[in-house]
Amino acid sequence: MLPPEAIPILGIPVHAVTMDETLTLIEGYMLEPRVHQIATVNPEFVMAAQSDAAFRHTLLTADLCLPDGVGLLYAARRLGRTLPERVPGSELVYRLAERAAERNWPLFLLGAAPGVAEEAAQRLSERYPDLRIAGTHAGSPAAEENDDIVQRINASGAAQLFVAYGAPNQDKWIERNRINLTTVRVALGVGGSLDFITGRAVRAPQWAQDAGLEWLYRLYKEPWRWRRMLALPRFGWRVLVR
Ligand code: UDP
Repeated sequence: MLPPEAIPILGIPVHAVTMDETLTLIEGYMLEPRVHQIATVNPEFVMAAQSDAAFRHTLLTADLCLPDGVGLLYAARRLGRTLPERVPGSELVYRLAERAAERNWPLFLLGAAPGVAEEAAQRLSERYPDLRIAGTHAGSPAAEENDDIVQRINASGAAQLFVAYGAPNQDKWIERNRINLTTVRVALGVGGSLDFITGRAVRAPQWAQDAGLEWLYRLYKEPWRWRRMLALPRFGWRVLVR
């Protein structure tokens, strides 16, 4: 499959792919002996990257920046371009785990609060009995833990890695360690997805997702996010006045 078209949104590339195309691309990535970095981009990422040059670099050098956020679809349309659909990280984790079970790709879950990765691994194994969990570890993105974590992952033989340290830390962590991970072929920043898998957090009802209101539901459930979510109107404004 050809590399997908990247649509620059406020200077950040967002790839015009569907969920199915994403899985096809990942099949190809698994055949190439290097780490492929995937980011699940939303308007908060794009706004954070405006003032965080290191994060911008991470997104510019990632193999795939998925359109996880309805605001990106609107922004692309405003530019006269098309992002075909949202590719939410919280759905991709299931699709990838399913594919990993079919293809025997060992999966490592890194991050989230203590115990969450283990429980998420348990839930995924119940759902996909053939899934091979290479390992789980909460750890933290702190520099002093870096080498220990990389060693654990390399020793586990993981081919796929989900990193749940929240953006931008998880994505910077992957970029920093791409060169050190010897067995991983695909590394995905998954945000709060492990919390969703364990049921600690609940995604918006389908109607709200279909109406493009998942962000509003998240604000309602996790109101402490309001400051971070000010990025949304700022994003809308920047896209409209450009
Ligand atoms: N998290 C972590 N270590 C940190 C910061 C965050 O393990 O130093 C985890 C947190 O427990 C959660 C995940 O990162 O499971 C994602 O956090 P958040 O919901 O803020 O990320 P978002 O989905 O907004 O990217």
